[in-house]
Amino acid sequence: MTHATTPAPAGISSRRARFWTDNKSTLIGCGILVALMIVVPFTANSSVMNIVVFAMIFALPAIGLNLLMGLAGQVSLGQAAFFAIGAYTHAILLTKLDLPGPVAATVGVLAAMLVALLVGLPLMRLRGHYLALATLGLGFIVMIGVREWDVTGRTTGIYGISRPTVFGVPIDNSGFFLWFVTPFVVIGLILALNLTRSRAGRALSAVNDSELAAESLGVNTYALRLKVFVLSAGFAGLGGVFYAYQVAIVSPTTAEFHLSVSILLMVVIGGLGSVWGAVAGAFLVQFLGEGMRDVIPAIFPGATGEVQLLGYGIVLILVILLLPGGLHQAATTLWQKLPFAGKRPPVDAHAHAAEDDTTIPLLPAVSTPVAAGEPILVLEGLTKRYGGVVAVNDVSLTVPAGSILGLIGPNGAGKTTCFNMISGALAPTEGTVTFLGQVISGRKPHVAAAHGLTRTFQNLQVFSSTDVVGNVYMGRYRKGSAGVLRGMLGLQSGEQSAHRAAAYEILQSMRLTDAADDSASDLSFGKQRIMEVCRALAAEPALLLLDEPMAGLSSTEREVMAELLRRLRASGLTIVLVEHDVAQVMSLADHVAVLDDGVLIAHGDPESVRNDPAVVVAYLGTDLDEAEAELTELEEHA
Ligand code: ATP
Repeated sequence: MTHATTPAPAGISSRRARFWTDNKSTLIGCGILVALMIVVPFTANSSVMNIVVFAMIFALPAIGLNLLMGLAGQVSLGQAAFFAIGAYTHAILLTKLDLPGPVAATVGVLAAMLVALLVGLPLMRLRGHYLALATLGLGFIVMIGVREWDVTGRTTGIYGISRPTVFGVPIDNSGFFLWFVTPFVVIGLILALNLTRSRAGRALSAVNDSELAAESLGVNTYALRLKVFVLSAGFAGLGGVFYAYQVAIVSPTTAEFHLSVSILLMVVIGGLGSVWGAVAGAFLVQFLGEGMRDVIPAIFPGATGEVQLLGYGIVLILVILLLPGGLHQAATTLWQKLPFAGKRPPVDAHAHAAEDDTTIPLLPAVSTPVAAGEPILVLEGLTKRYGGVVAVNDVSLTVPAGSILGLIGPNGAGKTTCFNMISGALAPTEGTVTFLGQVISGRKPHVAAAHGLTRTFQNLQVFSSTDVVGNVYMGRYRKGSAGVLRGMLGLQSGEQSAHRAAAYEILQSMRLTDAADDSASDLSFGKQRIMEVCRALAAEPALLLLDEPMAGLSSTEREVMAELLRRLRASGLTIVLVEHDVAQVMSLADHVAVLDDGVLIAHGDPESVRNDPAVVVAYLGTDLDEAEAELTELEEHA
């Protein structure tokens, strides 16, 4: 008798195994947290219980702020404002409209998110200190608003918020309340952890490292930041809802600057960018606050809450000075010292074998909507003025599909400015850039990327918070589709592993597999440049703009790069290349355009450009001997 074999059980078990591998640390961490929270009510005294309950409540706004600051790199000093909006909305709906608890809580969270959306629409265009100041201002507006508004009870606030009832059980003591809040913190933690590992989370980190590079790979940085700002406010609003339940009074203290500083402290002490750190920070700050309440009056008799704020300030300075990575950094350092700590798996043997091979594998054909030789990129009257300086002056040229255009010119000729206008990093003062029939000038780089145009940078734009493969993986951003919500729900693991495999393949073609798991910022300058090219190729563009790809490369690396460019052209890719190595450009390019002082002085095949007297004079100066020597050198390389 034969047994039919069905692939399903193996599929399910391998999916289970992958789920366990992907989520092991989250599941173990959450398991420990839940176990602790189950045990605490049986073992802790009332004072410790109180601290633990508030730590769990404040863990929510801390997780939210950590996503905004640690992941998206946006400093907010107004987290208390959203906390207060959640708390007040919940309290008003419960006490004045008598709405059921879940409805009031949901509206409280949504109100915080809605306000974040409205203020975020203009605020997310601000950067760095401006955003911090604007959110600080928002905090003050909310604080003054609740103090002055009758609906919010002015300075006395809103009283008489009754404790919730869950499945008929009244949550009328701290132990029950802890068990009531724990599932929400755990769910918030899982969602936030999923987000940090998702396509959207990686994009946010990339934006934090280099907004320009992330945009050039298709990330709509404004929309992504706005989403995280709203999400962060949602976490704060939920914290406010639980706070209102626990304290039964919502007063203007919930909107005070002091509270925003406390939440900020939780995130910094925990370690920016670490979701677990935010939870640990919430616990530490609560215990610290309690400690300070006893210690400070003992040191300074008659000291008030203001002096306690001073204590927070001192702790914040000490953490920044002594432990900039917070508790997360301390825990990671400790973990790495343990003998059983997981070591990196060795790189795939197949990849090593490929690296011994000096040839670049054949590249898959690029699918371009226009036939080879047809115009793919058209510049018309492109001009950029900076006050009196005309960096690029009325440049018009056409790039045929499937060719390499070399853009050369002396220092300051306007090459990079031209590149920036083509890729969307700069808006032209006049003129248009048309790519694949669409006018893309004046639009953001992510729009150009969406049409199939990607670039590298003269001044390297490495995503330093991730490893080499992580950088190349980011190049696949446009190939994925999962947004913030899918990322939070963890519904994209199949998509992720396919893109990761593609990233490894590209690294292999450029013989960078050995460095795949190294931190990108630890690579040599030349390898970082190659990695940027790999990252741009991962996006599978129709047009690749390379800004000085040979700069800083060894002669072998230059050979590999030149060979790669030839292969890319053979596969149908169009390349525009800015390069100071004129000999390389002449040998690689099908067409050469020469800029001098912002003006296009020559454009044609390498041979005619090489012999163009205007180029010789502009490029080499008026010294004829020098010019002839350089010409001879160029001919030797040709
Ligand atoms: P290099 O080969 O040295 O990189 P380039 O050909 O790329 O030079 P650009 O960097 O495009 O030249 O600069 C062209 C001109 O525009 C230079 O004179 C430069 O000083 C000027 N320029 C560029 N950016 C600005 C700016 N933001 N403000 C004022 N002038 C600028």
